[in-house]
Amino acid sequence: MPPKAKTFLWRSCRNALPTRIQLKDRGVNCTKTCALCENEDEDGMHLFFYCKKSRQCWQQLGLWSQIQQKAQLNLSFGVTMFEILQVLDPSERVTLACVMWYIWKQRNEFIWRNEVMTSVAVRDRCLNLLTSWKNVQESRNRAGVHQHRIDNTVWRKPDEGHFKCNVDFVFNWVGIEICIRNDHGRLVKAITSWSAPVLDVSEGEALSLLYAIRWAKEQNFNKVIFELDSKRVVDSFHSTRNDVFDLGAIIRECRNTFSSFFTNSRVEFIRRQANEVAHRLARAVIFYASIHYFTVLRDCIQDIY
Ligand SMILES: [Zn+2]
Repeated sequence: MPPKAKTFLWRSCRNALPTRIQLKDRGVNCTKTCALCENEDEDGMHLFFYCKKSRQCWQQLGLWSQIQQKAQLNLSFGVTMFEILQVLDPSERVTLACVMWYIWKQRNEFIWRNEVMTSVAVRDRCLNLLTSWKNVQESRNRAGVHQHRIDNTVWRKPDEGHFKCNVDFVFNWVGIEICIRNDHGRLVKAITSWSAPVLDVSEGEALSLLYAIRWAKEQNFNKVIFELDSKRVVDSFHSTRNDVFDLGAIIRECRNTFSSFFTNSRVEFIRRQANEVAHRLARAVIFYASIHYFTVLRDCIQDIY
């Protein structure tokens, strides 16, 4: 399925979507009523299954009867999702994820732009997404892109005189890890820290990048290549657009600090496999005090190092 729909499905099952009930629970001073129908509290169950607006979307795509049957069992959102997934065939599961993605989009378009997206529009956009996704997959297979793919799955030493700073964030642990290595590939300094809980993975990744930039600046490192495996954050960093959401504010701060201090430096995306050192340390963060500095290798990364 399209990666954005798959990630969205995962986030919704982890209760990581900033629905109004979720925001309220986290101390945000906002209304808790559903933005689409203004009738009930907006949690995952309501927004995706009980709300009359989303019901119309499911009916348009012919999935309502299977969903209704499971939604009325009154189970938690995550359990309901798994119950529904089990009664759907593979292509219906893909449709399910895409419809949910557009229901969320429908809600956001209304909140942020005051634009009403009808259930027919949700259906059409969902079908368009599925068709274009399938077309891209087919043409990729035909072109045999696998032969030409640039290998950014392997960590590489920075150019001479440069430092490489790998950054990672682990959502479940709210852990941040920053690891600086020199042009021989040797560990210079690393730091693990706990972060304040965030509502969104990208927001956590952006915060980690900000901490990394500030930390490298404090330590007077220059000529630094910052690497992280969040494509969304790296793309936003390089984009000229200014996002109004929280992520945008963090990215702006990253850009400001970066451009006011660093020369011959850059921020780049790498695949998760190439960021394994940072990733493993970020998962080990719970074993250390909140801010933990080290300059010698830890057991957990010895083998991949
Ligand atoms: Zn509603």
